Amino acid sequence: MFLSVKELEVRKARFLKDFPAGEIDFLEASIRQVSPLHVDGEAELISETLADIRIQGKLAVEMECNCDRCLEPTRYPMDSQFDLFYRPMTGEDVPGEVRLDAGDTETSFYTGGGIELEEVLREHILLTLPMQKLCREDCKGICPQCGQNQNVALCSCDARPGDDRWLALREVKLNLEN
Ligand SMILES: [Zn+2]
Ligand SMILES: [Zn+2]
Repeated sequence: MFLSVKELEVRKARFLKDFPAGEIDFLEASIRQVSPLHVDGEAELISETLADIRIQGKLAVEMECNCDRCLEPTRYPMDSQFDLFYRPMTGEDVPGEVRLDAGDTETSFYTGGGIELEEVLREHILLTLPMQKLCREDCKGICPQCGQNQNVALCSCDARPGDDRWLALREVKLNLEN
């Protein structure tokens, strides 16, 4: 759905839509949409001279990512409000204009005569997902030696080979110093 500045000059655009999984490209294969994305909101121009677009509403969707440690698929149900500002990318600052007071909102940029709602949703969802994606807080990850998922079963590899090597080095160093 294209939110065109020309149309927004006439009236607000309301949207109430369900995007089936696959309709929005999340660009990374490790980030997947696993439920329809429900969105309800509106877009409006908040400054006719600058053509800033404010897009607010709420969305609900279930995303799936791979756990950063054990690589197992992990579900992220989302139910979030958004209030986003988009400013045209002009390449020059308009002198005398007061900068948009973003407060706790985010300001992004758009080019051309408007912005795709799908792009707005993708950006918001990607920013809302946690930086560190874990299946659970105490995920034990996979063994770097044999690849065994340590949440499922512990392997018999030496659990901390790195530490042991450092210990051995330190002992050598101590012996040399004495
Ligand atoms: Zn995990
Ligand atoms: Zn192992």
